[in-house]
Amino acid sequence: MTYNTVEKTPVTLLGLGAMGTALARAWLAAGHPLTVWNRTAPRARPLAAEGAKVADSAADAVAASALVVVCLLDDASVQEALAGADLAGRDLVNLTTSTPAQARERADWARERGARYLDGGIMAVPPMIGVPESGGYVFYSGSPELFDRHRDTLAVPAGTVYVGRDAGFAALHDVALLSAMYGMFAGAAHAFALIRKEDIDPASLAPLLADWLVAMAPAVHRTADQLRSGDYTRGVVSTLAMQAAGTPAFLSTAEQQGVSPELLSPYFALMRRRLAEGGGEEDLTGVIDLLVR
Ligand code: NDP
Repeated sequence: MTYNTVEKTPVTLLGLGAMGTALARAWLAAGHPLTVWNRTAPRARPLAAEGAKVADSAADAVAASALVVVCLLDDASVQEALAGADLAGRDLVNLTTSTPAQARERADWARERGARYLDGGIMAVPPMIGVPESGGYVFYSGSPELFDRHRDTLAVPAGTVYVGRDAGFAALHDVALLSAMYGMFAGAAHAFALIRKEDIDPASLAPLLADWLVAMAPAVHRTADQLRSGDYTRGVVSTLAMQAAGTPAFLSTAEQQGVSPELLSPYFALMRRRLAEGGGEEDLTGVIDLLVR
């Protein structure tokens, strides 16, 4: 196969795990000259056969292209892999999952070595990479110049969402969305537990659950509006007082079904606290203030 690589930005990619390999294939398929490096060298062989140049060391890989993308296991592996590399003048894009604090420290670290730095949080699994219709995307934060310069190249494997100059914001957005996802999974786990011993097919509950969660999801826009205005009664549909009055029925039902309330109870406890503070006419937004220490 021949590629038109004339105008495509060369990319160096460090890390050929499941995610790195998917990223590599997307850039190769789009005709970008690609240099790869992986700690365990044999993992690079299939990509070499597909047109990637394989560097002998991370330092050589970094030297090969101005745009250097890193997708390693964790922040410690980034430190280890890049320890001997000359980053001066490089555009370093770190797609390794990290905490906001690690991302900020890594940005300072890169700047001290003369590199521009962009941090990324990948909102996709490997099969979604290089498949635009999958809806996968990457949060980016850090150098706006770097993002503007490489926007098109970065958009090859997945969509791009730039969330600010603060290098920690990509990781923060990533963790915020995944935290909400776990809350949703927790609720779904409780729902399935409630019917577990009944003659109800989980497969009949699943579509009802999925549709209900989708129908409820837009409530986050009202939450944002209330947080911005500071008025937690604004647009309220079901007051905290009404919802708190209903919670004993949820706990009794759990008990009757032989289901532990441990996933629901903490949230209900926060609702009761806010009610006791006088938030009865509000939405559930006041719970957020109880969480923020
Ligand atoms: P893998 O476990 O498949 O690959 C890990 C990669 O890190 C390998 O290339 C491995 O090299 C390398 N590595 C580990 N430790 C070191 C080290 N000390 N020095 C050098 N290289 C090292 O992980 P993924 O590819 O799936 O994930 C990569 C990043 O992408 C992670 O931060 C992950 O959180 C993130 N991500 C992954 C998603 C997924 O679904 N897979 C989804 C969203 C984000 P070696 O081959 O030598 O072991």
